[in-house]
Amino acid sequence: MPLTRRKLLLGATGAVVAASLSKGAIAQPGRPDVIVVGAGVFGAWTAMKLLEAGRRVTLIDAWGPAHSRASSGGESRMTRAVYGPDEIYTRMAVQSLPEWRALSERAGLPIFEQTGVLFFFGERHPYATAAMELHRRLGLTTRLLDRAEMARRFPAIDFAGVEFGLFEPDFGVLMARRAVQTLVHEFTQAGGHYMQAIVEPPAAGAGPVASVRTAAGETIGAGEFVFAAGPWLPRLFPDILARRIRATRQEVFFFRPPSGDLRFLPASLPGWADFNGGDLFYGMPDLEARGFKIAYDPHGPEVDPDRGDRTPSAEMLERVRAHMARRFPAMADAPLNEARVCQYENSSNGDFLIDRHPRRANVLLVGAGSGHGFKHGPAVGQYAADLLLGRIATPEPRFSLASKSVAEARAVI
Ligand SMILES: Cc1cc2nc3c(=O)[nH]c(=O)nc-3n(C[C@H](O)[C@H](O)[C@H](O)COP(=O)(O)OP(=O)(O)OC[C@H]3O[C@@H](n4cnc5c(N)ncnc54)[C@H](O)[C@@H]3O)c2cc1C
Repeated sequence: MPLTRRKLLLGATGAVVAASLSKGAIAQPGRPDVIVVGAGVFGAWTAMKLLEAGRRVTLIDAWGPAHSRASSGGESRMTRAVYGPDEIYTRMAVQSLPEWRALSERAGLPIFEQTGVLFFFGERHPYATAAMELHRRLGLTTRLLDRAEMARRFPAIDFAGVEFGLFEPDFGVLMARRAVQTLVHEFTQAGGHYMQAIVEPPAAGAGPVASVRTAAGETIGAGEFVFAAGPWLPRLFPDILARRIRATRQEVFFFRPPSGDLRFLPASLPGWADFNGGDLFYGMPDLEARGFKIAYDPHGPEVDPDRGDRTPSAEMLERVRAHMARRFPAMADAPLNEARVCQYENSSNGDFLIDRHPRRANVLLVGAGSGHGFKHGPAVGQYAADLLLGRIATPEPRFSLASKSVAEARAVI
């Protein structure tokens, strides 16, 4: 059955589907070199990078690229390079941005919106000082704005109690679901093979894996395997990942700005995060009339990505409304357009997992996006592909399985 773009976006019905064979696409008969399980942002970019490296790649997802329960399945995700002193993620965000831009330019609809990103702080914040020093050293365009300049440039925000902000004019918002679906479509057009199937957990044991088995009973062999299953990763490898990756419930809300109020459109409002006060809130302008987005960043309770209740809570609605009324006074009585419950899949400290399985030499584990992974998709995909292809002499210790603790101690912000 040929896979049309429409079918990819809508999702096929459980059956194995062939790669798109429309004009220009290259068929991939026979056994793949690599099977990538999971077509979220990490798996899709990894599959694409392996394909670009000349490998025959089959990408498998249980429910479709960026489906509604996937962590990549939201409307929008922020991309920024401010990471305090953290050079790894700063560099990865910078490395990824041109790839997002290029994807956006090739796609029919916008994928990257250069809204700029503003993080604002109370007086003296070591995170901000370190970020600014790092950005200067790396030659980034990030600017330190005082309160008066922020108030002039972003009139929708009440900056009471805020002293300064870090503004990244080159960054902005990624249209997440659209980005992943577009990328998987490009992957099939470039000769990659995409299938919709539930992959069963590999049998416990040691030594190389020869094949994966789907819930429909099909066995598919390959030389190497990448498991990029987001919050489902611990379910596939419970012996090594249970308690090392925990899914937490996160709620996001979209409110309708007052009619005719241009201050909430992307030309006037950047992606933002409010570091002033104990709790971190973040949000985005009204993109594509979806609504002004606001969310509370601290981790919610642990959740099961399949069975967890996705009804937004009255408590969180009240909490974001209170913050919105304080920081965005014109939004105080704004009607709710939409709300979603998603999950972060957290490592103990927020570092990603990109490492070989300790007992399965031909299995690579890619995940633990920890609520900040989306923007890094291109860089994660490149690193994972390079690691699999033996191009990395010294793997990054922070991405190792060995560094993943079971004790929660968030460090990456
Ligand atoms: C509310 C919210 C806000 C966020 N905001 C930001 C942000 O502003 N900026 C940012 O950079 N990041 C953000 N993130 C984080 C980012 O979205 C995630 O880190 C990223 O999407 C994780 O991608 P993934 O590919 O690892 O997982 P997923 O997108 O969950 O993909 C995993 C895929 O694996 C598939 N799968 C699982 N098990 C199987 C199986 N057995 N067989 C076959 N397929 C399987 C699933 O169907 C799924 O499609 C946010 C996350 C949330 C939830």
